Amino acid sequence: ISRTRLDRFISEHCQVNRKAVRLYLAQQRITVDGIIIKDVAHIVDKFSLICMDDKVLQANEARYIMLHKPIGVVSATKDEQHKTVIDLLPYSDKRELHIVGRLDLNTSGLVLLTNDSRWSETLTQPESKVEKVYQVTLKNPLTSDYIQAFEQGMYFEYEGITTLPAKLRILTSHSAEVVLLEGRYHQIKRMFGRFRNPVVALHRSAIGQLSLDYSLKVGESRLLTSQEVAMIN
Ligand code: URA
Repeated sequence: ISRTRLDRFISEHCQVNRKAVRLYLAQQRITVDGIIIKDVAHIVDKFSLICMDDKVLQANEARYIMLHKPIGVVSATKDEQHKTVIDLLPYSDKRELHIVGRLDLNTSGLVLLTNDSRWSETLTQPESKVEKVYQVTLKNPLTSDYIQAFEQGMYFEYEGITTLPAKLRILTSHSAEVVLLEGRYHQIKRMFGRFRNPVVALHRSAIGQLSLDYSLKVGESRLLTSQEVAMIN
């Protein structure tokens, strides 16, 4: 539905007159986005979750978004200091949108956002082992030793875990493509840190089968197509 009054929506949806609707509202049987609404003129739209007696009359429409994240934007819903990935989205209604896999402040590339937590859980559960593809630029030259070390995994003392096998492909003397199956805190920077080789640029180009659409300029976003949504699960 496009924007409409709550009484009108219920009257049409339940095939009852406005007087009956006023009664439902007075009886506190109607909630919008989990809050009891008594106001007949309350405005709802296609993103509203409208329930009567805990039965869903209209579900909050699922949305799936890809963003080309710029450097300097934080992967959080709120931040005192920096712009957030949510701030970059052009949608008027951003309720319930959450980030599917964070990128560091100074990392650019593919970020997914959604209000569908079932979908995002399939992506972020450690067992799901979805491949995340990164392009990395290093301060110092790479050697073939890195390949085996990434494949073997590295012990991270703080978390008490060993990283899952990661693929490293050397592209040039100072750049590589890395494929991770997980996303530990600053994982790529820490893995190159073992070689005392600082990461000077980091970019994510794909999550599973889903590649960043480079017709999106840095900072731009678009809705995923239904085929793209189905690639993740
Ligand atoms: N590894 C990092 O160090 N940073 C990221 O943003 C992603 C992976």
